Amino acid sequence: MIIALTGTPGTGKTTVCEVIKEHSQYRKQLCIIDVNKLVLDEKIYTGKDLERDTFEADIDRLMERVKQEIEKETAGRDIMMEGHLSHFLPADAVIVLRAHPVALRKRLGKRKDYSFQKIKENADAEALDVILVEAAQINKNVFEINTTNMNLLAVVKSVISIIEALKQKKAPEEFLPGKINWIEQVEITIFPSGPAFP
Ligand code: ADP
Ligand code: MN
Repeated sequence: MIIALTGTPGTGKTTVCEVIKEHSQYRKQLCIIDVNKLVLDEKIYTGKDLERDTFEADIDRLMERVKQEIEKETAGRDIMMEGHLSHFLPADAVIVLRAHPVALRKRLGKRKDYSFQKIKENADAEALDVILVEAAQINKNVFEINTTNMNLLAVVKSVISIIEALKQKKAPEEFLPGKINWIEQVEITIFPSGPAFP
């Protein structure tokens, strides 16, 4: 089975994968492909957006390259492609990690190479469900995990439980999309009596 683990930067994808790689039980089950590392190491991009400080990945070339990596996995483990572009790649299912935009700002604030503008852009994208919507347009099997108040191990266990359920041909009901609505919560926090239009 091929799984894409995606989500706005800061939602915890890489940290989750670090735990999986260090934990023998999970490692036996999953082969992880670090999509961002491939893009950067092998320059699989068409250019750089200097204003936004991001690379424009070449998705067609990336697909070919990831396919080669998947073919290298001969131990029969499931594949997990990790990165905020992974939902653009062919997969049996997509898991989207989510975090409340305020929590996301805090997490990204620790990144020395992230400007205020870049943090805001990511928090806004998370508030608007951008990655979830992109994923749902491409893949029928999309699930989401709200990591906001979850510790790392609980997130790892949720990821594994989704994969386990899918392998047993069960729908992971708890993680079906549609339960998360940041916009409503953000509005309540910022405008207790609703926005004041002139
Ligand atoms: P991503 O790979 O999705 O961009 P990272 O794994 O790099 O995100 O995590 C971003 C930051 O958030 C890191 O500082 C990490 O320690 C923190 N973090 C990750 N998962 C959680 C969590 N479940 N709760 C709180 N903080 C987390
Ligand atoms: Mn990452």
